[in-house]
Amino acid sequence: MVRPDIIVVGGGHAGIEAAAAAARMGCQTALVTMDVRAIGRMSCNPAIGGIGKGQIVREIDALGGVMGLAADATAMQFRMLNRSKGKAVWGPRCQSDRHAYERFVQAHLASLANLEIIQGEVTAVLVENGHVRGARLADGQEILAPAVVLTAGTFLSGVLHRGDRTWPGGRIGESAAGKLSQSLRENAGLTLGRLKTGTCARLAAESIDYSKCERQDGDAQPVPFSLLTDPASFLPRQAPCWITNTNPRVHAVIRDNLARSPMYSGQITATGPRYCPSIETKVVRFADKDRHQLFLEPEGRDTNWVYINGLSTSVPVDVQEAMIHAVEGLEHAQILQHGYAIEYDYVPPTQLASTLETKTVAGLYLAGQLNGTTGYEEAAALGLMAGANAARKLRGQGEIVLGREQAYIGVMIDDLVTKGVLEPYRMFTSRAEHRLQLRADNADMRLTELARSVHLADEARLAAFSALAAAADRAMALLRQIRIDGQSLAERLANPQMALAHVLQTAGDSAAAGELRGLAASAPRAVEIVAADCLYAGYVGRQQRQVAQMTQLDRRLIPPSLDYAAIAHLRHEARQRLAEIRPRTLGQALRISGITPADINVLAVHLHAVLHAEKDDAR
Ligand SMILES: Cc1cc2nc3c(=O)[nH]c(=O)nc-3n(C[C@H](O)[C@H](O)[C@H](O)COP(=O)(O)OP(=O)(O)OC[C@H]3O[C@@H](n4cnc5c(N)ncnc54)[C@H](O)[C@@H]3O)c2cc1C
Repeated sequence: MVRPDIIVVGGGHAGIEAAAAAARMGCQTALVTMDVRAIGRMSCNPAIGGIGKGQIVREIDALGGVMGLAADATAMQFRMLNRSKGKAVWGPRCQSDRHAYERFVQAHLASLANLEIIQGEVTAVLVENGHVRGARLADGQEILAPAVVLTAGTFLSGVLHRGDRTWPGGRIGESAAGKLSQSLRENAGLTLGRLKTGTCARLAAESIDYSKCERQDGDAQPVPFSLLTDPASFLPRQAPCWITNTNPRVHAVIRDNLARSPMYSGQITATGPRYCPSIETKVVRFADKDRHQLFLEPEGRDTNWVYINGLSTSVPVDVQEAMIHAVEGLEHAQILQHGYAIEYDYVPPTQLASTLETKTVAGLYLAGQLNGTTGYEEAAALGLMAGANAARKLRGQGEIVLGREQAYIGVMIDDLVTKGVLEPYRMFTSRAEHRLQLRADNADMRLTELARSVHLADEARLAAFSALAAAADRAMALLRQIRIDGQSLAERLANPQMALAHVLQTAGDSAAAGELRGLAASAPRAVEIVAADCLYAGYVGRQQRQVAQMTQLDRRLIPPSLDYAAIAHLRHEARQRLAEIRPRTLGQALRISGITPADINVLAVHLHAVLHAEKDDAR
């Protein structure tokens, strides 16, 4: 191959986006992964999006990523979650055909110029004088490159658990990457920690008694993730999911066997995702509840595998069988694969800059579950940002750091590198203080200009965006122009009780109203965006004033080499925390836990003095 500019290690959701972004930006990219057939594999549930996560998928799409396109092309069911809440926190989610998803992603990567895919295990990162030089493979081959993006997921020193049985692996049926952890410690000077996650059993569809379950269909009018998917012709053939519940008999089986669960026997010591607990944990933590909802989700159109969302577990096989057979509808269920847990190494993300480059080794970037996150969407977003930043740095161009007011992705990266993680980090809308602005519907409006300026958006996307923006502008003009009973439609839409469909219906018979209804039919996405803008106009104004204050602090850059020990008036704890995190801006410094506004004042005065001293020197 041509000597690559960038090596991406790992073909999971992070690696896919990192490789695709770097290749799209014109860098010769080598994607090295342990098994090319596993590229795009979903380790756990066959679904993309959800609350907080759907917004991330829309942002990935606006930044020219792959995930939204793959999800639209391979979806089996679309549902907008959180519809009972405000529109800002609606979460688009789709049930995916897992094999079709892998095929789509693999074909997409194969179609990209500048990208070569290599099967192999990376055992070491090569580092010289604080700069990455390339990667060594298990067969001894060395690939040299000035930038490396590691996206090893749950594979670093992965250990699987089921009952008292443990075995090494990256996930079921795949080997662990044993040696890379050691190289990260020894060659890259990184500290590693240990986290845990788990998954449920899979059942044979024909062995489930669906007549005892509640049917759950997709939305009648599914909304695609990608701007490039034409909503008018988007009519995926949707399959139903099914709902059943655990019951006191299931809970009794679990309680009676808790000592045989590696979570409770002391066998697993790492922390798992608090918001995605195993059924053992739910039964213990919510002891007063006598049922938990379970969703039976088909894994694909050409497979009989069914995923039991809500029943993640690592109890022994006989206990899994007893508890599953105690669930209504699953009395005779055939188990195709049992649930298991996995412990793996991760890199505490406070060792990363906001570009996801490690602070210890220039040119070495980390993304995905390796950074202490959980979830396909979080991983994909981190991969995209790491790949894009690696490409920018190689070209001597400025870094891409999204603000907290600009994108959920910005919130996630800022949280990770500023606060670190105590458990696998997943996105929630509550993490975003500017969530009224960070809606799933307006991701293109927020991010396309940036994607254009850094060459992440292609011509097709820019053309689709310019049509969207023009339709949105026209729709907003019409909403302001058309008045009913002395009130403009824009003002009417500010009332949360006023549904868009009702406002359109009662807009009258004028030519303008006809044009607006035409736009709602031909450009529904544009009209939805402006309707939400009208709804949130008052709140957003207030939020924007807060954003402006914070942005000022986020514009005050701190020199990366600042010697915090030399700042006389800074508290000892503040010095330590700041030296550890090395915040990029005063805004980020303020968000570090343990840092007070008074510390920021001391720091600001110091920076001011340093700046003046430098100016005096320059004179
Ligand atoms: C058992 C289990 C249960 C999970 N449950 C949930 C859940 O309930 N909810 C949720 O949101 N998420 C869950 N996840 C997490 C989800 O799968 C990950 O967040 C997501 O897949 C991370 O994407 P990634 O790209 O970082 O890593 P992965 O998807 O793990 O991909 C890593 C890739 O890197 C490759 N690789 C690793 N090391 C090397 C190496 N040294 N050399 C070459 N290639 C290498 C692997 O072959 C693989 O292709 C679960 C994961 C597992 C394994």
